[in-house]
Amino acid sequence: MRSPIPDYLTEVLDVCGGDGSGELAAYIPELAQADPDRFALALATVDGATYAVGDADVAFSIQSISKPFAYALALAEHGLDAVLEKVGVEPSGDAFNELSLEIGTGRPFNPMINAGALTVHALIDDETVRRGFSAFAGRDLELDEEVFTSELETADRNRAIAFMLRSHGIVEKDAQEVVEGYTRQCSLLVTVRDLALMAATLANGGVHPVSGERVVPREVTRQVMAVMATCGMYDAAGDWFTSVGIPAKSGVAGGLIGALPGQAGLATFSPRLDRHGNSVRGVQVFERLSHDMGMHLMEVPPPARSLVRGRTELPGGKTGHGWAYELQGSVNFVGMERVLRYLTEEPPTEAAVVLDLTRVHEVRDVGRRMLLEAVRRLVQDGHDVTLVDPEDMLEAFPDDHADGDLDAGDGIEVPVVRHR
Ligand code: GLU
Repeated sequence: MRSPIPDYLTEVLDVCGGDGSGELAAYIPELAQADPDRFALALATVDGATYAVGDADVAFSIQSISKPFAYALALAEHGLDAVLEKVGVEPSGDAFNELSLEIGTGRPFNPMINAGALTVHALIDDETVRRGFSAFAGRDLELDEEVFTSELETADRNRAIAFMLRSHGIVEKDAQEVVEGYTRQCSLLVTVRDLALMAATLANGGVHPVSGERVVPREVTRQVMAVMATCGMYDAAGDWFTSVGIPAKSGVAGGLIGALPGQAGLATFSPRLDRHGNSVRGVQVFERLSHDMGMHLMEVPPPARSLVRGRTELPGGKTGHGWAYELQGSVNFVGMERVLRYLTEEPPTEAAVVLDLTRVHEVRDVGRRMLLEAVRRLVQDGHDVTLVDPEDMLEAFPDDHADGDLDAGDGIEVPVVRHR
């Protein structure tokens, strides 16, 4: 069978390709030379499948799409608190190059506007950027010298912002050097395929879906995607999040990325920009994909089926008769709340209790803690509890063969077996 996915993506390009409105970014002379008709789309899943259609191998400068990745590297290097001291996380509602600094602290509002991105860049060095971005992409990225020189020559506004930041003590490094480094960061060359994989690395909790390299810690990606969701689309962020609902970032060369947590990274390239500086056709593609593929983050899934699939009587447990509870689905807060409610409202009437996780496909940290608390309380009530966990969802097994024990607190060790 031929996969329908590339056909679908090509169809999306065809449908959105007709719109010739928008302008090239002219404030960087080299970008005004770009071919305005280029159009490409790529999607990378968190397990490493990539699909790319249109001008997918054309490289362009990353520009502001570099901002979330530089932010991620700064967070990984300095930690959240140190970075928050320098850059906030509030949408500014202003254009990307507005000099909006918080009254009192002088902090830029967020890392997605230039003031914030210059501050973030000053927290990491050029080598960290180049190496880190390459790890996000899964290949060595190169610099577009022409774009770099062209932008640096005309970067007066960014210089003004950098000097202003220094005057507030937010940036300590030499202002000219910071602007030069930031401009180099913006001039790295990428294709939509690279960008889709970079976004997929964020969506995958910081691990590159193909190389398997951990680029940044998981908690960093949560922070970065949250800031993309609220501040990623300049002064169109609210419009974007309500209509598309995917954490995103655009760049003035015409790139646009989206990171759908736990699912996929998306990227488009089309150089004509709307008045906010976002790619006209890129925005249309994202609206379509979000709608067709149900990718809006706020689209509420139908209520999960009960986590307790059923209760059966045990033919003979260790201490006589008992009950086996078969759990299914996701052991998250809401799922476990139902299990706890079930066990509270209809307490097991026999001594032996088996909690069978064979049909469980995911155990969240909170679910694991709630499950162990249930076990601890059942044991305190005099029950003899066994967990069945063939897929080692609870990570109880010391090696592939032996059965294990789980510490449920208060010195209670619960046997965990692989087979029913
Ligand atoms: N290098 C560009 C600047 O700082 C990036 C702007 C953008 O892509 O939005 O002006």
